[in-house]
Amino acid sequence: MIPAGFDYHAPRSVGDAIQLLGTLGSDAKLLAGGHSLLPMMKLRFAQPTHLIDLNRIDALRGIREDGATIVIGAMTVENELIHSPLLREKVPLLPEAARQIGDPQVRNRGTIGGDIAHGDPGNDHPALAIALDAVLVLEGPRGSRQVKADGFFKGPYMTDMAEDEILVEIRVPAFAPKTGYAYEKLKRKTGDWATAAAAVVLRLDGGNVSHIRIALTNVAPMALRASDAEATLLGKALTDATIADAAAKAMAICDPAEDLRGDRDYKTAMAGQMVKRAIAKAAVRCQ
Ligand SMILES: Cc1cc2nc3c(=O)[nH]c(=O)nc-3n(C[C@H](O)[C@H](O)[C@H](O)COP(=O)(O)OP(=O)(O)OC[C@H]3O[C@@H](n4cnc5c(N)ncnc54)[C@H](O)[C@@H]3O)c2cc1C
Repeated sequence: MIPAGFDYHAPRSVGDAIQLLGTLGSDAKLLAGGHSLLPMMKLRFAQPTHLIDLNRIDALRGIREDGATIVIGAMTVENELIHSPLLREKVPLLPEAARQIGDPQVRNRGTIGGDIAHGDPGNDHPALAIALDAVLVLEGPRGSRQVKADGFFKGPYMTDMAEDEILVEIRVPAFAPKTGYAYEKLKRKTGDWATAAAAVVLRLDGGNVSHIRIALTNVAPMALRASDAEATLLGKALTDATIADAAAKAMAICDPAEDLRGDRDYKTAMAGQMVKRAIAKAAVRCQ
């Protein structure tokens, strides 16, 4: 289907984009990679009368180091995450997980900022950002503010971001030495969204868990942090029993929608399996 007509704007700076957003109001939408927005426009689920294209704003692209933080521009595409030597060294969970997103076309155009801003519970970056304890930098007419990814996702396609704000940066703490990590994603076929997925970041001290973050994709109206599962493991050794307990706690917060990927029980069970696999893989990488 062909989208409804719209006016096209191509600002060269974040300031100009914010000004346009303010002037054009709720009839305007930001365009990043277009891999979520354009399908919605073609189906007429979204009918913005103005598109503000962020692709010509160079300041929104790139990956850099700021002390112990890795700063990723919102318009950085998945392929850039995959091939970034800095991320591979400092936050290897991101390149590994980005490989599992969509297909080559999606990874060439789709941006990390668009993936997060869209608030789609099926998207992978929300849970990854929660597991990585990422901070999102938002700019708008009232200035700049920083919000934690944990708490940013409010419901399906709903986030803490105002209509006149732009996500400009994703700030991720670099991994401490011997940080284990994994993103386990069950999908029906290449290019599909997750049936269920789990992101884990883990550190051990003297054989006991000293740091653990667990976040879940596509098993609730938004990405979830599995806090009870984390609390179950903190300070304990990883055994079949403690891992099974954590998986059960993660399953208890799942509230998936039934669809072609499976019914609620199946998706919940798969979330538990993904948590178990991700913890086991992360534990091997802590050594
Ligand atoms: C076939 C297919 C398979 C896919 N599979 C996956 C998958 O497995 N995992 C996955 O995570 N995703 C998947 N996607 C979605 C893809 O990753 C999208 O690229 C992503 O959801 C949105 O990023 P985008 O840059 O394309 O944003 P766009 O589609 O351009 O924008 C999406 C929304 O975010 C807003 N937005 C974009 N950038 C900003 C910003 N900087 N600040 C504020 N608002 C902004 C836009 O206004 C729009 O509302 C798939 C898409 C397709 C078509």
